[in-house]
Order: sequence, then structure tokens, then C-alpha cells
Amino acid sequence: LSVPTDAGAALAALRRACGAAPLLTGVDEVAPYLSDHRHLYRGQALGVALPDTVAQLSEILAWCNARGVGVVPQGGNTSYCGGATPDESGTQLVIGLARMNRIRAIDAANLSMTVEAGCLLASVQQAAAEAGCYFPLELGSAGSCQIGGNLSTNAGGLNVLRFGMARDLTLGIEAVLPDGRVFQRLRALRKDNTGYDLKALLIGAEGTLGIITAATLKLWPAIRTTATAFLAVPDVSAAIAVLAQLRGAAGERLNSFELLPRAAIELACRHIPGTRAPLGLSNEWYVLCELSSFVDEPLDELLQQALTRAISTGQVLDATLAANEGQRLAFWALREGIPTAQRRAGLGVKHDISVPVSALPAFVAEASAWVRRAVPDGTLVAYGHAGDGNLHFNVNWLDGADAQHVATQEPVIRRAIHDLVAAHGGSISAEHGIGQLKVDELRRYTSAVELGTMRAIKRALDPKGIMNPGKIFTPS
Ligand SMILES: Cc1cc2nc3c(=O)[nH]c(=O)nc-3n(C[C@H](O)[C@H](O)[C@H](O)COP(=O)(O)OP(=O)(O)OC[C@H]3O[C@@H](n4cnc5c(N)ncnc54)[C@H](O)[C@@H]3O)c2cc1C
Repeated sequence: LSVPTDAGAALAALRRACGAAPLLTGVDEVAPYLSDHRHLYRGQALGVALPDTVAQLSEILAWCNARGVGVVPQGGNTSYCGGATPDESGTQLVIGLARMNRIRAIDAANLSMTVEAGCLLASVQQAAAEAGCYFPLELGSAGSCQIGGNLSTNAGGLNVLRFGMARDLTLGIEAVLPDGRVFQRLRALRKDNTGYDLKALLIGAEGTLGIITAATLKLWPAIRTTATAFLAVPDVSAAIAVLAQLRGAAGERLNSFELLPRAAIELACRHIPGTRAPLGLSNEWYVLCELSSFVDEPLDELLQQALTRAISTGQVLDATLAANEGQRLAFWALREGIPTAQRRAGLGVKHDISVPVSALPAFVAEASAWVRRAVPDGTLVAYGHAGDGNLHFNVNWLDGADAQHVATQEPVIRRAIHDLVAAHGGSISAEHGIGQLKVDELRRYTSAVELGTMRAIKRALDPKGIMNPGKIFTPS
């Protein structure tokens, strides 16, 4: 890096480059930006710049690019793979997007809205609702993650089954490229076949190709009716059969299908105040599913009929429908409380995997058998977006374990689970990205052709390698 060796001179030059944008350098004010929310990583930084206009950000990036200063974009800092945390060198600049948080436009007739990257996901959802529309991205972190972070991780969440992931919800992107040029393609078009889809490339790039400053998002009409049910099922195969039946009965109205093992529900009930198991805890597997509609229609009846048929064939053992909005929210609070409950329960090893839905039963059976055999002191807590073939396949040590024991076990468990995922044609990162946590895993499970093409794209857009160095792959 060609940062002046004299730290004082470097900061003075950086401050000039930031212009009107605040540059935080005090130990206490910078501290929250230096580690991820799971405290897996802790870095250092030259400072934290907080631009609130595209022009300011463009100046800062051009300055960093000219001097080879590494840049780490940070949104809500809720991601799981350390992608928003600087390295330990103290030579990188963190750029926080929180001040770029304007809703630029909502076009209800076109079902689209344009928002700045630093808008909280919850604010985007609320602005859409106030315009009589619906923005379907839904994560447990909605109150603290930013739409720029959601797009940069191509976030998934609870409604992917029907509406797709963040990339599927995006019509246009505005971004500042590493050399400070502004890529502006905020077209609100559903049809636009004009060359390479560069917006799709910037989405999911985890800040390694540029900084997203705004996006034009797809909206849907407001949801008028929902029907939500909690089911007990005999096993994962039955759950997948029920998924197919619900699809057959409800078509595209099926927007969520979450698989929950007893262990996950027990954890939530123990560690999240006010949470209770809707169907008790006498079964091994449960499902939380939801239908929704843009028109008034008797969804409860439709769901009840489909579940009655599934009960008669033994694929559902027991079921309860949310009788009102309070019960619906209670079902979802239980589901969304699981990550927090796991954290409170103690140490664990997390995997965010996906396999084809049809392969889920075999994968879960084989991977669970491996965990029982190889980690007898661990408890498997494998839950999540089964309708998308995505499970958070986690192992927790509920009776306590020292950090050293977990650190020794972690690579062994990760290798076994990810090898099984690969054998079933799956992905080692379904929705959380690569960050710095899975750099080695990406290398192991990705072909040389694919990795080489990714690196070529990185070199073309960021020849000096200033954008989020060490994330997705190690600098070449
Ligand atoms: C309780 C909880 C529940 C969650 N549930 C889900 C879930 O269901 N599905 C899911 O997918 N994730 C989930 N997450 C993970 C997390 O919320 C998502 O990954 C989210 O999209 C991250 O957004 P963020 O603003 O916090 O990004 P950050 O953590 O700040 O950054 C993530 C990555 O994007 C880059 N980045 C951030 N902003 C920009 C920008 N404007 N331009 C370029 N790069 C940028 C960063 O450098 C980093 O690499 C959950 C997290 C928590 C804590």
C-alpha cells in the first residue's frame, strides 16, 4: 500500500479526500466497525468514512484507488461470514453506508421503488407498505441490516420460495466502481436485454467489485390474506411430500416452508422469553408454513383442506392454524428466535447449506448419522428454509464445551458436512455468502474454470485489488 508511512500525514490526506463526509478515527467511535456481530473476527482500520452522497463516495474511492488503499464497505454489519470486517493491518478504510438512506422514488403503477443502499430493510418494507405495495425480502435482521448489504450478499430469507432472493427482486443498480466512476443503471424495467447483466454481477459480490449506492427494487401489490400453520411431521421425507402437496393445492400462494427440529424449538423456548411450542415437543420434526394472497380469498380453508388430506395419509401427524395475527406472529417469533437462542445456548458450529429439495431427506439422514457418530457430545440443530433446499445445519454443545475443544472439532465437522453437501450436488453457502469465513471452502468446492473466471472479472473491474481485499478469495 502506498499510504504515507507517517500515520498523521495519511489521515490528513484521507480527511481531505473525504471532504464533507465524516471520517471517524477515535478509538471508541471506530470500535463498533472493527468486528462482526458474531465476534469471529476483529480488525483494525485507518478510519471509518461515512459519505452521504454518491459524489463524496466517488471522491473517496478514486483517492483510495490512486494510492492502493484497501476499502471495506459496511452496511448493517449483520452478515455471518466476516465480509464487512477489515483485516488486522490497520491500513484499510471502512466505508459505512448508513447515511445514504433516502427513499428516492416509489412508482406504485410500475410496482417499483428506488432506494439508497443505507436504508434499513425494515424502512424499505415500511415505505413500500405506505405506498400500498409489498416488498417481500424478509430476514430476522430486517431492523438492522441495510438493503445495500442485502443485495451485496444476495440475501435469501423467509419468502424465497415464492419471490426469489435479493437478486431476483432487483431491477436496477447504482454503484461506485473502484476507480470512482459511477455505474448508473437504475432502470425500472422488467424487460431489458441489452448486453451483459452487470447489475446481476454486482449483486452478491460482497463489496469486492464496487460499492452499491442505490437500487431499483420490484414491488408487489399489498398482501390481503395470509394463512399460517404449524405442523408436526414424522420425518424429513414426509415434510418434503407435504411441500409438494401444498404447492399442488395452493400454487404460488405458498411463500414460506420452514423445517424445524425439536432441538431448535426447545432451544427457542428455553432462551427466548415468551416463546412456546405450538404443538408441544413430542415429535422430532415440525414445519412452519404460510400461504399469502394479493386478493381476499379463503386461504385458511384451502390450507385446512390440504392439511386434512395430509393427516389422513400420515404425512402430517398434527397441525394448528394461526387463529389470528397474534398467533401468526408468535409462530414466526419462535422461528426467528432460533439463531439468538443458539447463540445464548453456547458454542456451536454453523453451516449454511443447500441441496436440491428432492435430496434433502437423504442428505439430512446421512449428515445426521455422521454427527451422531462423530460428535457424540454435540446436538444437531438443523433448521431453516427447507422449501428452498436450504438448511442451517448447525451443531451445538448444549452441556458446555471449552472453546479449544470446539475449535479442534470445527474443521473436521465442516469437512464432513460440506463433502456430503457436495456429494448431493449442493452449495456450501446458500444465502450467507463467502466473506472471509469460507474462502478456503469456496476454493475447495469450486472448479478451476469457475474460480478463474471470477478472478478475471475481479481483475477487470478492480485491477489494483482495493475492494474488500481477502473476501471471497485471497488476493492473487
Ligand atoms: C437474526 C439474523 C437473521 C438473519 N437471517 C437471514 C436470512 O434469513 N437470510 C439471509 O440471507 N441472511 C440472514 N441474516 C444475515 C444478514 O442479515 C444478511 O447477510 C444481510 O443481507 C446483511 O446485510 P448488512 O447490511 O448487515 O450487510 P453487512 O454485514 O454490513 O455486509 C455484508 C457484505 O456486504 C458488503 N456490503 C455491505 N453494504 C454494501 C454496499 N452498499 N455495497 C457493496 N458492498 C456492501 C460488505 O462489505 C460485506 O461483504 C441474518 C442475520 C441475523 C443477525
